[in-house]
This record gives sequence, C-alpha cells and structure tokens, in this order.
Amino acid sequence: MRYSFLNLAWQALRGHRDWQPAWRDAAPRPHYDIIIIGGGGHGLATAYYLAKEHGIKNVAVLEKGYIGSGNSGRNTTIIRSNYLLPGNEAFYEWSMKLWEGLEQELNYNAMVSQRGVLNLYHSDAQRDAFARRGNAMILAGAGAELLDAAAVRRILPMLDFDNARFPIRGGLLQRRGGTARHDAVVWGYARGASDRGVDIIQNCEVTGFLREGRRVVGVETTRGRIGARKMGLAVAGSSSRVAALADLKLPIESHVLQAFVSEAIKPFIPGVVTFGAGHFYISQSDKGGLVFGGDIDGYNSYAQRGNLPTVEDVCEGGMALMPAIGRLRILRSWGGLVDMSMDGSPIIDKTPVDGLYLNAGWCYGGFKATPASGWCFAHLLARDEPHPVTAAYRLDRFETGHIIDEKGQGAQPNLH
Ligand SMILES: Cc1cc2nc3c(=O)[nH]c(=O)nc-3n(C[C@H](O)[C@H](O)[C@H](O)COP(=O)(O)OP(=O)(O)OC[C@H]3O[C@@H](n4cnc5c(N)ncnc54)[C@H](O)[C@@H]3O)c2cc1C
Repeated sequence: MRYSFLNLAWQALRGHRDWQPAWRDAAPRPHYDIIIIGGGGHGLATAYYLAKEHGIKNVAVLEKGYIGSGNSGRNTTIIRSNYLLPGNEAFYEWSMKLWEGLEQELNYNAMVSQRGVLNLYHSDAQRDAFARRGNAMILAGAGAELLDAAAVRRILPMLDFDNARFPIRGGLLQRRGGTARHDAVVWGYARGASDRGVDIIQNCEVTGFLREGRRVVGVETTRGRIGARKMGLAVAGSSSRVAALADLKLPIESHVLQAFVSEAIKPFIPGVVTFGAGHFYISQSDKGGLVFGGDIDGYNSYAQRGNLPTVEDVCEGGMALMPAIGRLRILRSWGGLVDMSMDGSPIIDKTPVDGLYLNAGWCYGGFKATPASGWCFAHLLARDEPHPVTAAYRLDRFETGHIIDEKGQGAQPNLH
C-alpha cells in the first residue's frame, strides 16, 4: 500500500478501516539464502538493500524481541557526517546522502530534518582541531562552517558564553546534519524489505549456530532450527555474546548509554548542539521535549539501564552549557546497550568463521550510519567483497595496527 495524500484522504473518508499492516509478521521457513540476525535499523536496512539492490529476496531477519527494541529505538536520533579520518568520512557522507533521499526511497515519513549540528569549542586548541576537521569535511563534500562566538550567539543566545570554566569561543556547524525519527526509520525499512519478500521474524532469538566443519550452515533459535547459506550478525550491544555462540571473540565491549527527554516546551533549540568541554548533547523534538545525553556509564554491562552518577554528570554538563534548562523536569530516561570497539570505529567484514559476516562496533554513533551500514553490509553479503567506503572497517585491523581512532584515545573502548 502506497502512502500518499490522496490515499490518506481516501482512508479518512472510509473511517480508516482499510489500512494494511506495514509489514508481514512472518513465521520461519526451513531455509534461506541469507539470515540477518538482529532486527534493528542496520539488520533491516541490510535486508532491504539485499532485496532491492542485489535481487536477493530469500532473506530472513531474526529479532529476539520486537523490531527496533534495541538501540535503533533508544537513540537520540542525531544524524551527521562530520568525521575527520579518511576511513570514516566517505562512509558517513554516503550515509548522509542516503538519508537525504530516504523518505522518497521508502515512501515513509522518517521525519528526516536537516536542522544542523553544532559542535561548540571552548579553547584555541579546540578551535584549531575543529578547523582541521571542518577542512577535511569540506574536502569530502560534507560541508562545514567554523563559527566564532558572535555567530553562535546569533543562533543560540541562551547559552552561557561566559561560563568561568568553559567559555564558549565558537563552534563547527554542519548544516546538513540534524535528526530523524528513529523508530520510523526501523518501520520504513521493515516495510520496504517485507514488500520485497523478506521475512521479518520477531520473538525469535538466535541461541546457537549449526556447523558443518568450519562453516556455519544455520542457526538454532527459540522458534526452531533455520538453515542458510550465509548469516549476517547485526546485534549491536549483543555482538560479543552472539559471536561467542560461533566461538568467535570480538574486539568489542558492551556498555550502557543513557538518554533523557524533558517535558515539552515551546521551540527553544533550533538544531543539535554539543558541548565541547564535556560530553553533553541536546536537541528538541518536534513534540517540544528536549532530548539529551552524554557519556556512557563506563563499566561493562549487558543491562539496558544506567545509573545515577551518570545522570548527574549529564545534567551538570547541560547546566554548564545552558543554565536556563535547570527548571525543566525530566520526563523519561532509558538506557541502551552499545557495542564499543577498541578504536571507536565500526566493523563490516567477513569473520574467520565461513558463512558468518559481521556488522558491529557502532559505539554510540551508529544510528546515523543506518542507511550506509545496510547498503554496505548487503554489498558484502551479496558479492563477498567490501564496498569501497567500508574498505577500512576490517576485523583484522586490530591485529595489523590499521586502526581508525577518530578521537585519538587509543585502545580504550569506554573513552571513544
Ligand atoms: C541512548 C543512546 C543514544 C544514541 N544516540 C545516537 C545518536 O544520536 N546518533 C547516532 O548516530 N547513534 C546513536 N546511538 C547509537 C545507535 O542507536 C546504534 O549504534 C544503532 O542504533 C545500532 O543499530 P543496530 O541495528 O546495529 O542495533 P539494535 O537497534 O540494537 O539492533 C540489534 C537487535 O538485535 C537483537 N538481538 C540481540 N541478540 C539477538 C539474538 N541472539 N537473536 C536475535 N536478535 C538479537 C536485539 O534485540 C536488537 O533489536 C545511540 C545509542 C543509545 C543507546
């Protein structure tokens, strides 16, 4: 069923009785060409592009809960392509290009809003680092503007520019960055994949792999055994646990990342703002709530809930940046399970286990990657060779030393 203004009017006249479910809730079949494990945005986008770009439609997406119940439905919805390193920038810029056409592509309102992402700087050294990053972005076609304090003040007059510890000196602005509605992205890809014949199977947890020698030939699930020629792992914070079922040890740690939404207020923050002196970022949803977050909780965990010291730390960051929010009430907070890699960059690669492919290591920034991640993982699964923009996202880079350390933190997954 196509969504359009005419269809909406027609359905309204008929009392909205004839809408079809957006995707088929499929039951597992005995065998598929490709199984994608994990029904988040990355898994569903992969299935969608497998069917659409490569004509591979005998595909199942297996999700242990409901689709989007992982990080894809828990994130703070920021999209951007403001990366410095060549290994990253081409990939994230390709993702941004896909975001720019996504709603037409999927015939789905994903509320993609290019309202701008502004990273604030607070010292001369940080300004120089941002100038360098901005130049790299301009060279890659991503676009960037380096603003001084007066220019930032024109956009965000309510910030605390003269904070004694963290005075705001300016910011790096990517106007094409912004937000997209996270669960709509999941639903849009699910609908597109299902329409092209992909089986989306919810409440189906993968509990083991079927092996023939060195090769995986299927999965054990809570809904029975399912065979496949190839299997793609896209389970984010559960990557190390699911890979362990195939005796694979990954260079990934799982950590909790929390997010917060305030009560709704009138339009206050026009785009996304990040605090350069600590880890705090904020935007305003179309419903009026301020959506914000900060650092990960900093200890290894598989729990999807965080702790109070990080809540306090995030709120302190917010208060240092814009004291005006001090009187707002927090409406909701929640946690997600992020797959932190050792260099802060993702992995899209074959694994040493024949038939098993890996999409992981998205840390706390994989929502913006959703379209390109799906596009490139589908390319790898279909053609057995990496897409050019993911050539650096190899699993063996941690052995060979070809790391992509965007933040320059070293092998400290909790700091990326
Ligand atoms: C609080 C928070 C804020 C964030 N903010 C941003 C942001 O603003 N911008 C940004 O770019 N990124 C952000 N991220 C990161 C981003 O959300 C993730 O990197 C991205 O959504 C990962 O998508 P995914 O499809 O790989 O994983 P998920 O959406 O987590 O999907 C994985 C799925 O696998 C399923 N699964 C796990 N184990 C099994 C199994 N054994 N069998 C079957 N299924 C299984 C899970 O149930 C889950 O649904 C944030 C993350 C969090 C937690």
